[in-house]
Amino acid sequence: MAKLDEKIDGMYQEVLKRNPGETEFHQAVLEVLESLGPVVVKNPQYLERKIIERICEPERQIIFRVPWQDDKGKVQINRGFRVEFNSSLGPYKGGLRFHPSVYLGIIKFLGFEQCFKNSLTGLPIGGGKGGSDFDPKGKTDDEVMRFCQSFMTELYRHIGEHTDVPAGDIGVGGREIGYMFGQYKRITNRYEPGVLTGKGLTWGGSLVRTEATGYGATFFVNEMLKARKDSFDGKICTVSGSGNVAIYTIEKITQLGGKCVACSDSNGVIYDEKGLDLALIKQLKEVERRRIEDYTKTHKHAKYIAKGNIWDIPCQVAMPSATQNEINGKDAATLVKNGCIAVGEGANMPTTPEGVKVFLDAKIAYGPGKAANAGGVATSALEMQQNAGRDSWTFEFTEKKLEDIMVNIHNNCFETAEEYGAPGNYVLGANICGFIKIANAMVAHGLV
Ligand code: NDP
Repeated sequence: MAKLDEKIDGMYQEVLKRNPGETEFHQAVLEVLESLGPVVVKNPQYLERKIIERICEPERQIIFRVPWQDDKGKVQINRGFRVEFNSSLGPYKGGLRFHPSVYLGIIKFLGFEQCFKNSLTGLPIGGGKGGSDFDPKGKTDDEVMRFCQSFMTELYRHIGEHTDVPAGDIGVGGREIGYMFGQYKRITNRYEPGVLTGKGLTWGGSLVRTEATGYGATFFVNEMLKARKDSFDGKICTVSGSGNVAIYTIEKITQLGGKCVACSDSNGVIYDEKGLDLALIKQLKEVERRRIEDYTKTHKHAKYIAKGNIWDIPCQVAMPSATQNEINGKDAATLVKNGCIAVGEGANMPTTPEGVKVFLDAKIAYGPGKAANAGGVATSALEMQQNAGRDSWTFEFTEKKLEDIMVNIHNNCFETAEEYGAPGNYVLGANICGFIKIANAMVAHGLV
């Protein structure tokens, strides 16, 4: 761990004290604070105005009961969350996660990171995140619908196109957004597309939103490779997960000439030396909602490794796209030893602090999630722009905007890292660049 500046260490100790047991939140805060020492030296007003302390404290945290009935008529209770973290750059914006592991600490880590990510996009969006410990896996469509309706029956009073605009994340895709939008419309009697993003294309959604996080992360890695006079061409790649982000990462890597040989889900890993069959993965995961193991039913040459570790498979580019802390120090060392030259995080905080240190020490091209996966939220903001203008843009136009945004984020992180004397360190570049914009807006807004 880098040593924290003494003043900043005091702030971190306070975060630990005020937020007991929220280990993922502590981890996300520490990772940002480690970069800020030189920033407060240059800008003492950030200390005087307690900008860092204020950024670490969410503006509002909402926790609510979500009762619903399963298909057998049994009553089920889940817990819902929305953490509205920081609105200095625009309305709160960030996804909803439905996964049994969700608790306040997960939502706060995601909301905290979201603030810096949204700042990096250059678009007018603040940071927030929400979700529930509900597990959509194994539930029928009707059960998912009843849950989403109950969830929205509380959430609706806290959101709005100028207030807070949720989107998807793990366990929340087009189906869930549809049910929540329907319930919002019913309760409020308002057709207000700007209240949620990730909507269906016929009712206010944007082309490229589905693809955006995976495509964006791949564009980011492409820029890191270009900065090293390299490209995806002929590179062997592995992508963890097989959900929304993983699928469109595999698609874009393939379009840019790379070869993806492995992906996964929480049960195991698929290794296909010939290159993954993406049409089959889409059919299994997007259409039939099956497990990735079924890939080998039609593709006998591929290997399924139950409970396997995808990072043991040699690759030149690794794109973690499943969940937090999926690459530990040992996995990172294995990747580097096996010749990995670039890591782009489609997932949020997928690498532990020990793993990050391995990548930085090895000086490989390492793109942290808050920069690399910002394409999803950026395209959500483009969806909001289209909704506000009652417009819909073509795929090509929207994809080009996404690519331009990712190139810009890359360049800003790259240049900030150089300016602060750490060339090639995208962690430092992303943290500082994301922070300064929020901090300046907070100073301008006064003590609020
Ligand atoms: P999905 O629900 O579509 O897919 C998640 C994938 O990750 C599934 O294959 C899932 O497997 C796997 N996974 C989830 N949890 C675990 C776990 N604990 N261990 C192993 N595998 C796991 O989610 P997304 O693709 O949308 O999100 C993936 C990551 O990307 C998350 O970190 C999310 O925060 C991040 N992200 C998503 C954005 C978006 O636009 N969707 C935007 C920016 C970041 P299984 O089916 O077995 O659970």
